[in-house]
Amino acid sequence: SGPVSEPRPLQLGPGLPDGPSVYNEFTSKPCPLYSPQAADLVIELSQTHKAKPDLTNLVFGTVFSDHMLTIEWTSNGGWQKPHIKPFGNLSFHPACSAMHYAVQLFEGMKAYRDTDDKVRLFRPMLNMNRMAKSAERACLPAFDRAELVECIRRLVQVDREWVPQSDSASLYIRPTFLGTEPSLGVKKPSRALLYVILSPVGSYFSTGAKSVSLWADSKYIRAWRGGTGDCKMGGNYGASIYAQYEAVDYGCQQVLWLYGDDHQITEVGTMNMFLFWNNENGEEELATPPLDGIILPGITRQSILELTRKWGEFKVCERYLTMADLRCALEENRVKEMFGSGTACVVSPVGRILYQGENLHIPCQEGFPQLASRLMKELTDIQVRSHPTGHRHQFNVYSTLVQRNVIPPVCGQ
Ligand SMILES: *Cc1c(COP(=O)(O)O)cnc(C)c1O
Repeated sequence: SGPVSEPRPLQLGPGLPDGPSVYNEFTSKPCPLYSPQAADLVIELSQTHKAKPDLTNLVFGTVFSDHMLTIEWTSNGGWQKPHIKPFGNLSFHPACSAMHYAVQLFEGMKAYRDTDDKVRLFRPMLNMNRMAKSAERACLPAFDRAELVECIRRLVQVDREWVPQSDSASLYIRPTFLGTEPSLGVKKPSRALLYVILSPVGSYFSTGAKSVSLWADSKYIRAWRGGTGDCKMGGNYGASIYAQYEAVDYGCQQVLWLYGDDHQITEVGTMNMFLFWNNENGEEELATPPLDGIILPGITRQSILELTRKWGEFKVCERYLTMADLRCALEENRVKEMFGSGTACVVSPVGRILYQGENLHIPCQEGFPQLASRLMKELTDIQVRSHPTGHRHQFNVYSTLVQRNVIPPVCGQ
């Protein structure tokens, strides 16, 4: 009988540094995406195919594609072969550490189909870098980020029919990483499961672009220095649901998360926050809080910063903003726009903030204000237009083309 396949320890990435230089690194390396691990993929195709949903009234994250990717890890055997297999339930030991102690993390990214019918992942290595950081914080094992992108690319390739044709819809990709330690000790898991599921999503603004209303209160804190707010770990989100419902009780849609005695503005729901205004010195400025440990480092946030810095039309600043700053600027008519940013919506304008019993009205021109509209258009162009007028080249977007078996070089250096 042939040898049973040896579990292969999955190596730490090929020394990829953090940040955008990762993309250049790719081109200068021979072919890190095809190192043994993704090549070991075991693919079991589903015998049945689910009907594709009607995207016009699809609730986010309720419908899943036909397949999923699973990769198991044990401290003794290292990473096992990755599997692409029919979408289905998972089975866990009842003491599983993800269930008891939230030894868990996730990612959120998307695949888009462009007007030439090519499917691309948007900046997937940025998600992998963030996932690797979350994994370290969660005491989950390191993984080869480029290998994981390649496994995800193959999964999307298998389920490519699930990537919507429309330019306002996309395929949401949810990598998830769990500690599956089968014991109740609070410790580093000796077993883990990394899996990826795919969910087609319609336009975030299917009911028309509407601004969101926010409840700003310091009663609940989303994240704190030394905590895990800068990692996409499930516990952060489970713990936020209670505050979200209190916001609804106050007639608002989402929470504006504040921090510290000076009520620093940090994030909007599960989005990063941007303020476009004339600052204290009268300069036109796009501002967002700095990544100081309590802000989730959003890929949309990073893309907006890179794009607007490239435009060079106004000051772009990572800086602290307090509710007092905002209130004063509103009184002096210096606020132009405020919006949240994230993979799900790209940008989401803010129209009203309930703060200390007072409604603060943010200019938003009946839906989409100017800068938010422009960012929405430029980012969507990069994601779904086959010939963006140079946009894909405009900043270091490393999008992985799904349908071709090649990784395109970095455009426009
Ligand atoms: C995921 C997330 C964001 C947005 O990140 P993107 O990479 O742009 O999708 C912002 N804030 C929080 C709290 C998040 O979980």
